[in-house]
Amino acid sequence: MLDINKIRADFPILSQKVNGKPLVYFDNGATSQKPQVVIDAISKYYQEINANIHRGVHTLSQLATDAYEISRSKIQKHINAEFAHEVLFTSGTTHGINLVTNGFASLLKAGDEILVSALEHHSNIVPWQMLCEKTGAVLRVIPMNNEGELIMEEYDKLLSGKTKIVTVNHISNALGTVNPIKYMIDKAHEVGAAILIDGAQAVPHLKPDVRELDCDFYVFSGHKICGPTGTGILYGKEAWLNKLPPYQGGGEMIKEVSFEKTTYAELPHKFEAGTPNVAGGIVLGTAIDYMNEVGFDNIQQQEKELLEYGTKRLLEIEGLKIFGTAKEKTSVISFNIEGIHPYDIGTIVDKLGIAVRTGHHCAQPIMTFFDIPGTIRASFAFYNTMEEIDLMVAAIKRAQMMLS
Ligand SMILES: *Cc1c(COP(=O)(O)O)cnc(C)c1O
Repeated sequence: MLDINKIRADFPILSQKVNGKPLVYFDNGATSQKPQVVIDAISKYYQEINANIHRGVHTLSQLATDAYEISRSKIQKHINAEFAHEVLFTSGTTHGINLVTNGFASLLKAGDEILVSALEHHSNIVPWQMLCEKTGAVLRVIPMNNEGELIMEEYDKLLSGKTKIVTVNHISNALGTVNPIKYMIDKAHEVGAAILIDGAQAVPHLKPDVRELDCDFYVFSGHKICGPTGTGILYGKEAWLNKLPPYQGGGEMIKEVSFEKTTYAELPHKFEAGTPNVAGGIVLGTAIDYMNEVGFDNIQQQEKELLEYGTKRLLEIEGLKIFGTAKEKTSVISFNIEGIHPYDIGTIVDKLGIAVRTGHHCAQPIMTFFDIPGTIRASFAFYNTMEEIDLMVAAIKRAQMMLS
């Protein structure tokens, strides 16, 4: 079991007051808070080993390079990738997806099909639309039902020999739905399509096993798993990464450069042009160590209790409706209160120290599906408590009184 007070003491920001009230941070779906070990590791890097990597023979450059590559191996083990060079450092999920869509531009032709799910974040929709514009490929949407679950019979029907790639999130940021990705991966492979999994909302809650899943690409952001902003990972199967052309040209991604012809470096460097976020990459490893120390079993247990308790308490509020009632979901509750705009609730509860997200959560098609302007979203992390849920419910009730 988690010693929740001990865990909370790891996160200095959680003991802050906001607007004179103790902070209740329920916007973990947007970004997580950072433990002291992560904050310290950033300053330690700049104080002790800061240097450019993969270039110098001098001691600091080697220390920094080693730390960066150790972090890569750590992440490789964490997601169970076969090779460290299948783990690319990126600036986040958005960057990882764009790297893949850019690479597919040279592999697709007019009439090829890309399947995207109805539950996607804009960063897993727009790059694919741009790819379609460039290549003449066609984007097709895997629909969902009223619970916010993807409809697998429809997915099966959409798959064909024309399908070249499928893209779907592991867990929806807007509704918390856990998608049946193992099934979807196997089905995509049956028709010879590649599949990308957007794991941005999954990695804070579980440890993905990319080899067991057998996905072709898996992307996530560091800042949602207690790591620094501007960090992320693109896992790609070696064969796919070798097939895709580089994303950006520059230093560090080449073997030899002349004005006549340039040859590219081996993986992973082919995709890591320029000086990367060295500190961020190293400290992402620290964040993953921290999450593993807390333990994903403990994290899941705590979050399951928060989800159950939060759902029960919120449903006590008159006129409150929850969007996203999938059988398999994580600790995200998206809701609205009859007759009140989500933004108005968000603004009032903020005055009471409660941080929730309001709006379309970068998933406008989902809001269109439910015919709503947006929702209020409370997304819980393992460092949240039942008492905080009580504070949120009281604040919402107060806002409701003031607004109706
Ligand atoms: C947050 C999120 C993204 C985008 O991540 P960035 O860190 O902003 O690049 C993409 N997909 C999902 C499901 C997300 O939750």
